[in-house]
Amino acid sequence: MAMDSLAADIPRPETGERIVILTGAGVSAGSGLPTFRGPDGLWEGNRVEEVATPEAWARDPVLVRRFYNLRRRALAKVTPNPAHLAIAQVQRNLGARLVTQNVDDLHERAGSPQVLHLHGILTEARCDCGPASVTGIGYRDLTKEDRCPRGHSLRPNVVWFGEPVPLFTQACEWAAEADWLLIVGTSLLVYPAAALLHHASPSCRIVLIDPAPPPSVVPQPGHVWVLPIPADCGVPSLLRHWSPLP
Ligand SMILES: [Zn+2]
Repeated sequence: MAMDSLAADIPRPETGERIVILTGAGVSAGSGLPTFRGPDGLWEGNRVEEVATPEAWARDPVLVRRFYNLRRRALAKVTPNPAHLAIAQVQRNLGARLVTQNVDDLHERAGSPQVLHLHGILTEARCDCGPASVTGIGYRDLTKEDRCPRGHSLRPNVVWFGEPVPLFTQACEWAAEADWLLIVGTSLLVYPAAALLHHASPSCRIVLIDPAPPPSVVPQPGHVWVLPIPADCGVPSLLRHWSPLP
């Protein structure tokens, strides 16, 4: 199969080698989850600053809640795709660590034993008064009645534009220790993948699986591999090569 021959050149990681997987929107695209960000740069007709910044929350919490309620309802209707399932299997079989930019819970639902959500997760709410306020809300709407113990309105537990990314330090530490970095469904050129690569050791092997890899990323034999195919084909193909079924 042509897809599998793309992965055939990639050696299987040795026992004990550390694998870090970074996933982005391209992994969830195969589940039919709308990215919300259209070709016009708008999110469901809203400018990013209107729905995904601390200023937007301060100015118009009704709009911000509605925007994230719609995203949560859309998430409830989709299921993990073969990319999520294969990633969970790489984690179980080879002990890989997973870092995702995605705010959906499809990795968890696919059985990933551990997921570091760089940008938070839609199924939780929190208050700015502290990490202890984080509350699971599942797929239900967040309303103005949802309050922290001190009586403040709960917000989605996602990282907005202009906010710090507290888990980024952890992700960089993992990248620095990695023998393998698998970057799936996100560009190597933009944050956070570019920054994680910066922390990786020179000997770290890199596999990029994305249908639109940037031309500046050039495959290097034995070091950098590029699979220019969608995640839901590319990751299962790599898995078949790495952990063949008995
Ligand atoms: Zn509070």
